Amino acid sequence: MKTQTRRKSISKFIFLIIIGIFSSSISFAQPNEPVEKWKGKTILLIGAHPDDDHQSHGTLALLKANGNHVYIVTLTTGNVGTKDPKLSQTDLAKIRRQEQVDAMKEIGLSEDHYVNLGYDDGRLEFANKEEVVGKLVHYIRKFKPDVLMAFDPGYNYQVWQKSDHRAAAYLAADASRAAEWPLMYEGDIIQDKLEAHLISEYLFYGGNITDKNTIVDISDFANQRVEAGTKYISQWTSGWSDYLGPDINKYPAGEKEKLYKKVRNRIKVIDGKSVERFRYHKGVPDTMGHAPRD
Ligand SMILES: [Zn+2]
Repeated sequence: MKTQTRRKSISKFIFLIIIGIFSSSISFAQPNEPVEKWKGKTILLIGAHPDDDHQSHGTLALLKANGNHVYIVTLTTGNVGTKDPKLSQTDLAKIRRQEQVDAMKEIGLSEDHYVNLGYDDGRLEFANKEEVVGKLVHYIRKFKPDVLMAFDPGYNYQVWQKSDHRAAAYLAADASRAAEWPLMYEGDIIQDKLEAHLISEYLFYGGNITDKNTIVDISDFANQRVEAGTKYISQWTSGWSDYLGPDINKYPAGEKEKLYKKVRNRIKVIDGKSVERFRYHKGVPDTMGHAPRD
């Protein structure tokens, strides 16, 4: 019994050391200046679907309110995300674009800060990678972001994400890498008069909690995030299987309350504050997925 207890406390000790080493190697990379204090930066968020940015809407609203420039590039139209047999892919792509633009308005972003690359939902992995990366490189060189927000490709390992998210994580990472080399996709530079662009700050979303080293206090922007989230009627209401248009009041009784509750409940609360968590990385794109090496 005694030995067992000792063994247990030894393994607990080893576990704590491992956690300590792990968290110190992750935490050193937190931004020197908290995200809440950022001003005058350009932020580009790359997502797979026209609602992937929602989990960062509080941060995007905060950044916009603080005088940063925020752009969103979505890779697919979201044209298969429904169980409603009445909707075609074309219908759904239109509905989801409008939902996205309406959501962006709630967090202070206009449609001219939104680009949809038009790939098919659910099949991003099978799209021509060179073409997708080339398009992303173009927008990186055009918007010149200081900070890239993207699905986390992983830190010292690969994060398993569902297919389009998995693809979007790597495509964004590969594009940020390619954008800095002038001889890569040089058509942008020769024909479009753009310049090679190096992104040296990253805020990754969608990764594992243990990798997240940055907490953004979105308390003052939580309501904006909620209002934005309630625009995704085709995704988060009974409109998922029976779409009745963009007005929540046309849906069965109680739907509106349910939607607001659902969207509100998705916001993490730590110490009474509404927060969004990210893995922050500072450095050249090549190092975004691993700790410093010899
Ligand atoms: Zn998605």
